[in-house]
Amino acid sequence: MPAFIDARTVPAGTTIDTDILLIGGGPAGITLAIALADTRARVTLLESGGMEFDAATQALYDGPETGVHYLTLDGSRLRFLGGSTNHWGGWCRPLDKIDFEKRSWLAHSGWPFGRETLEPYYPRAQSLVEAGPPIYDKPEVWSRGAGDAPLTLGNGGVYTTFFQFSKMRGSTLPTHFGERYAEDLKRIENLNLYLNANVTALKLAKDARQLDHVQVATLGGTAFTVRPRITVLCMGAIENARLMLASNDVMTPGVGNGNDLVGRYFADHPIPGETATMVLFDGRLAPYYLNNSDANGVHFRAAFAPSDGFKRERYVLGSLITVDGTRKLGDIGLAVVKAAADALRIDASKARAFNLGCGLEPEPDPERRITLADTRDALGQPRAKLTMRIADADFDRYRRTLSELGRQLMAAGVGVLQIRHKRREDWLAGLDWANHHMGTTRMHVDPKQGVVDADSRVHGIANLFVAGSGVFPTYGASNPTMNLVALSLRLADHLKGALR
Ligand SMILES: Cc1cc2nc3c(=O)[nH]c(=O)nc-3n(C[C@H](O)[C@H](O)[C@H](O)COP(=O)(O)OP(=O)(O)OC[C@H]3O[C@@H](n4cnc5c(N)ncnc54)[C@H](O)[C@@H]3O)c2cc1C
Repeated sequence: MPAFIDARTVPAGTTIDTDILLIGGGPAGITLAIALADTRARVTLLESGGMEFDAATQALYDGPETGVHYLTLDGSRLRFLGGSTNHWGGWCRPLDKIDFEKRSWLAHSGWPFGRETLEPYYPRAQSLVEAGPPIYDKPEVWSRGAGDAPLTLGNGGVYTTFFQFSKMRGSTLPTHFGERYAEDLKRIENLNLYLNANVTALKLAKDARQLDHVQVATLGGTAFTVRPRITVLCMGAIENARLMLASNDVMTPGVGNGNDLVGRYFADHPIPGETATMVLFDGRLAPYYLNNSDANGVHFRAAFAPSDGFKRERYVLGSLITVDGTRKLGDIGLAVVKAAADALRIDASKARAFNLGCGLEPEPDPERRITLADTRDALGQPRAKLTMRIADADFDRYRRTLSELGRQLMAAGVGVLQIRHKRREDWLAGLDWANHHMGTTRMHVDPKQGVVDADSRVHGIANLFVAGSGVFPTYGASNPTMNLVALSLRLADHLKGALR
């Protein structure tokens, strides 16, 4: 079985010719390599890291930030084979149908295709992330009978939805793509995978319509060239944008950046903590709302979500509302609950209170963006700089969904809900982020509105593609990885067609 190649052993000045070059060995790059195994194309995968964490390589991810508090750029991703799946949470859920639609109330919304285009790729994506059979929103599968049913809500816009979890074969951890697929990758005959290989420049042909070659450097000081027919950037949303912006010798604004879009519309799912308190009069809540559970060989967890119909009617965006534990009510809280239960003539002597957290879909914002910093990394590359923002409207929309959940609890006579945050400062004080890097190379059929076209090809450059959630033009509230794996499988099909 051929081993991976250590780029530090490649003689300086070497030129490697290949049909398809994949830059980055996270889930996007690994999925593409696996999906292209049945072609006759020579595939090369260049991965910056090795098989394990290395501090010097990880430091290449460091970069400054400005604006709303965010995670550190080197702390919210990992730079070795498997990429950020080396520490992901494994939460999976397909995007909703509406996530692909142009929404009249949401500027910059609309994918070039609907969910039905990704549908054929979801089963294999689900299998690659090892999240079990895709049974998501089927409460009858999860519930094991009376007392274990989803919470009864009054008619309305919020419903119980389900996540499934990635679980690596033979492990309790989510699937770490590098570790899990290393042996499979070594068995792929048309693949050469280089470790410790940092791509430092995308070199365009003089007419800027083709990528001619890429420059590769190791931290040990060697440098070589790869000359591909087709290249796919799979370095994650931040790094793809950084390399495109820094490769500015032929196109001065950066590769594919003729319309000043590369790096813009960066997004992550905000996670404002303890946003609301939900009190259930009889205190009963199926355990799968509170903890990850098992049924039918699948690990799953329930959450509340606005339906697509409610989003349309009330102009809200996606949110996934999780139950983040129980909470003790103070005297005032107890009095409020008693008053509400008395009004409904319900016994609340066993009432229990729960903290609600959530992950939100933010609106697309061109000013939330990756640019190049003044400082450089150990390879002499300009570092990525993040300008982070969040709109008040994102919090307002989420309040509408929480209010609806509260109304439905009351309508069903099962409980009450109190929204805890009122002002922007309250939301920001407990704000965390999901590490879901999206945007920066958004997909749109119009080059003035997107970096890549509907096939994930960089507008204007015939042989350069981008994989990963950086191409999501809007984000939905679902976790991105299973969706970006499905999108990578679709891209593999397109590349196979292009090579014929
Ligand atoms: C703490 C944490 C928890 C998460 N939890 C979840 C979750 O529960 N559910 C979910 O769906 N998602 C989750 N995510 C997000 C998930 O990890 C990402 O969506 C996913 O890893 C992105 O895949 P990717 O292949 O596009 O990029 P990455 O995983 O970032 O992989 C990029 C690869 O490119 C390599 N690379 C970078 N620069 C270069 C270069 N110049 N040359 C060569 N190679 C390079 C890197 O070393 C890396 O291996 C989480 C992320 C984090 C950090």
